[in-house]
Amino acid sequence: MSAPENAGRLPVADRAAMFGAVKRLVVEDRAAFAGVVALYVLAAGAGAALPVMLGDVIDGIGTGWTASRVDLVCGAIVACVVVQLVLLRTGRRLGYRLGERAAAKLRESFIARVLRLPLGTVERAGTGDLATRTSGDVGAVAELLRKTGPEMAIGVIELVVLTVAAFVVSPLLGLLFLTGAPAFIIAARRYLRLASPVFLAERAAMSEIAETLTASAAGSQTVTAYRMQGERGAAGYARAESHMGRLKGIIRLQTWFFPATDLTFLTPAVVVTVVGGVWFLDGWVTVGQVVAVAMLTLRLDGPVFRSMMSLSEFQMGGAAMARVEGVHLMPDEVRAAVPEGAEVRLDGVTFGYGDGPDVLHGLSLHPRRGERLVVVGPSGAGKSTIARLIAGIDRPRSGSVTLGGAPVADVPLEVLRRRVILVTQEHYVFTATLRENLNLAAPEAGDAALYAALATVDARWVADLPAGLDTMLGEEHHGLNLAEAQQLALARVILADPDVVILDEATAGIDPGSAGNVEALLAAALDGRTVIAIAHQLQAAESADRIAVVREGRIAEEGAHAELLAAGGAYASLWWAWKGVAA
Ligand code: ADP
Repeated sequence: MSAPENAGRLPVADRAAMFGAVKRLVVEDRAAFAGVVALYVLAAGAGAALPVMLGDVIDGIGTGWTASRVDLVCGAIVACVVVQLVLLRTGRRLGYRLGERAAAKLRESFIARVLRLPLGTVERAGTGDLATRTSGDVGAVAELLRKTGPEMAIGVIELVVLTVAAFVVSPLLGLLFLTGAPAFIIAARRYLRLASPVFLAERAAMSEIAETLTASAAGSQTVTAYRMQGERGAAGYARAESHMGRLKGIIRLQTWFFPATDLTFLTPAVVVTVVGGVWFLDGWVTVGQVVAVAMLTLRLDGPVFRSMMSLSEFQMGGAAMARVEGVHLMPDEVRAAVPEGAEVRLDGVTFGYGDGPDVLHGLSLHPRRGERLVVVGPSGAGKSTIARLIAGIDRPRSGSVTLGGAPVADVPLEVLRRRVILVTQEHYVFTATLRENLNLAAPEAGDAALYAALATVDARWVADLPAGLDTMLGEEHHGLNLAEAQQLALARVILADPDVVILDEATAGIDPGSAGNVEALLAAALDGRTVIAIAHQLQAAESADRIAVVREGRIAEEGAHAELLAAGGAYASLWWAWKGVAA
């Protein structure tokens, strides 16, 4: 994790990890897995029985079978066809279910792991990588487990069973049956190498078309206003042409490839018929055996084609699975520090983002237990960075940020999330009831406590909700505006009842008139907690116990409002400038 070249990147699972993951999925659902494989084997067996029995009938007629015996075996042949259909259908259905269950498990453990990752790790990995894994890759793995995997398994099992059947009929002819194998192996390897990039390029070209069309449609007014129709049309046409080029690539590949695939079953068919014929004349094999094995070779067509077709999807699904499983290889950060008390201290803190320059330069700040400290300063001074360090999202480069004497970034997340809460302007409203949205912070809180928390943040809109706490929130249900979402987030803080609350512009979305009111109510509710409020609006500063002015990554001034005004320094000039604007 500390290797600089890998710094931040989410890992990708290697072969051993993938094998482990597949093994885990199989073992967890072993009864169903064994059942599905048994069904596939039986279905393939029933399919292979047909040519074998036909061979028996041919030889039987030659050796004087009675008509009723021939009828019996022919009846069995028909039964085999029906049995194969039924078994395969059942096997497919169970196989898809098994795959879906496995995919769900994988998805759940992926999400659980991602949610346990510290925010700083997620941010360093880049939300793009994580988003691709969460949406595209997880979907591709589900497709692999529910469809491509079972189809591939059906194909491979059928190939094996047909081969075994050929050897059972006649080991000599079985050897001839294998003459298709080299063509199959060569074709499969080549296809695997050539097909994946071609399919990937086709998909990329397809999403480019979608992007261009969406952009043109979304910006249609601009397009019309600037008379860009021709240009946008040409762009769309160029993309479509590039996509067509990719499609031609696929067709070219398949044009070469399919005849090669045909060789896998045509070669042994010809070899078995010709060589088998000669061997029959020599008395080494019977006509029935030659016919049976020749027919078995012709049955290769289906499974060869099926497994080849799934091959590139199988490979791409495997690559997606390696990325999904990769998150489990993230080393767990060892966070075992135990805070003794609730005092927050920043001492000589130096910090910079990634490889960037320092944005905090030896900063020290000691919020007192239970005080309301307001941090002010110009934009870009480092206020939010201080908030992130106190919340344990980032680690200082040097110096220390501690909670009750323990480095905050070493306190286990489950402990930290209960004791220190950072509220920013980004508020997420989950698609769930209002009650569920609030209970996230305090699962045991009853309705009375939830209503009390909402009243504390002056969320009067709750009274107008159609179903009170049972109202479904979220874009498709009852949408909340920014101010309401902020009040919801603040109500959660009250319910969570932490020792330390960091409010980073937390009331910025609420209109200035009621923001003051919300802050006053919040301050009353959080009485006794350490509140560190980061503010652009200086009105919050006036009532603070203490004010810290941050400039260029350092504390420029610290003290009470009246004191700092009297001192006539950085705070005084900020204050008068703000008053001037506000007046
Ligand atoms: P403030 O909250 O006082 O406006 P910040 O703490 O957000 O200031 O930013 C302090 C400095 O750190 C700024 O120079 C800003 O550009 C930089 N910074 C903030 N966030 C990041 C980030 N995620 N990556 C790189 N630089 C950042």
